Amino acid sequence: MSKKPKPHVFDIILFGGGVAGLWLCNTLKRAGYNVILIEKDRLGSGQTLASQGMIHGGQKYVLQGAVTGHATSLAKMPERWNASFEGWGEIDLTAVKMISDTQIMWPAGSILSDVAVLGAAKLVNAETRKLKKDEFPEVLRLKKKFKGPVYELPEKVLEVRSLVQALAAPLKGRLLKGELTELLPDGQCAVSGQVLRAQLVVFTAGTGNEDALKLLNVQEKQTQRRPLRQVMVRSLPYALYGHGIVGNPKPRVTVTSHADGQGGYVWYLGGAVAEEGAKMEEEETLRFAQKEMADIFPDIDWENKEWATWYGDRAEPFDAKGSLPPGPFLHQRGRILIGWPTKLTFAPALSDRVFDWLKDKDIRPLAKTAPPAALQTADIASYPWEVATWRRL
Ligand SMILES: Cc1cc2nc3c(=O)[nH]c(=O)nc-3n(C[C@H](O)[C@H](O)[C@H](O)COP(=O)(O)OP(=O)(O)OC[C@H]3O[C@@H](n4cnc5c(N)ncnc54)[C@H](O)[C@@H]3O)c2cc1C
Repeated sequence: MSKKPKPHVFDIILFGGGVAGLWLCNTLKRAGYNVILIEKDRLGSGQTLASQGMIHGGQKYVLQGAVTGHATSLAKMPERWNASFEGWGEIDLTAVKMISDTQIMWPAGSILSDVAVLGAAKLVNAETRKLKKDEFPEVLRLKKKFKGPVYELPEKVLEVRSLVQALAAPLKGRLLKGELTELLPDGQCAVSGQVLRAQLVVFTAGTGNEDALKLLNVQEKQTQRRPLRQVMVRSLPYALYGHGIVGNPKPRVTVTSHADGQGGYVWYLGGAVAEEGAKMEEEETLRFAQKEMADIFPDIDWENKEWATWYGDRAEPFDAKGSLPPGPFLHQRGRILIGWPTKLTFAPALSDRVFDWLKDKDIRPLAKTAPPAALQTADIASYPWEVATWRRL
């Protein structure tokens, strides 16, 4: 008779090494739990390293003129992150690099957009500043007839890989690469031939949360994907971080800028460009993005540039209208929690939800087992623009 392998027993096992899992792994370790994290690919390889790295404070979401629940919960997050960046927060993030300390909002089109930008600015916190003309980012000063208004939001843009590195640094030996093949509601699972068990298993696996629900045989719809086709264009001599607004809550374009290694920048374009792009093939998206950029920035030569796209999904809990849910969410089955932060910004709030659950169920640190030696360490993924296939149009 073949003997069943003895399970490696932990307090908590996490699946998924994006920002949510890495943040949670740190807070759990700090609270004394024996925790390991299993990543099937590379750390940050889902949405995290493809994100625009903006720590939102809610302003972008009040453009309708009403403060939504989502905007209110987001508004509390920057303070929490700043505490960690400054070294007195819940995780030491002093090594994280900022690519910009602020973001801007500017009217990217119609007269209506001036009203929208102004309306948003009225609802936002006192630190939001209307810029004088000579303070506009260089690329907006190029626009001959452009008068603004341009608002500066005190919201940081992160160099996301440095965030992943800073979150991974205290977790040496606990971040393992493995393939989940079995999962039981009592907290037992099989990973790359190893049997593991924990008091609690948490999935922060983005689109991979669907794998967990399948293995648990959950029939009801719990997840949604909202696809995006982000556009990348290089090389620009100027950096820009912010949202080009037209009379619509969704920015016409959201721009972040990333060093291209040759003294210039890759512009990474989100907002409506990426949402519309998700409905098109790559070629059509690129032509659409080029046209949009030529309309928004007519003084830049968009012909002589290289272009690429990143296609992927925002992985979220199911919302009947298919909209962005108002905040982080946990689904529970037995000893399994399945979590979605819904925004990078919300990773600390998702961790709070897990801690509420641990408190409620009185789950305390018990296990002493060392991470299974058979599983390799997970390494960190690349940015989309480092691995993209670039082309001229
Ligand atoms: C283009 C884009 C731009 C964005 N910009 C912003 C922004 O500026 N600000 C903001 O706040 N939010 C932003 N977001 C949202 C934000 O990126 C996500 O909400 C956040 O990164 C989700 O983190 P996560 O850790 O839950 O998931 P992910 O980052 O997707 O990580 C999931 C991880 O789980 C792994 N995995 C999958 N299946 C399994 C499995 N079976 N076993 C083990 N591991 C598994 C994956 O390989 C991956 O590493 C953006 C999202 C996108 C797509």
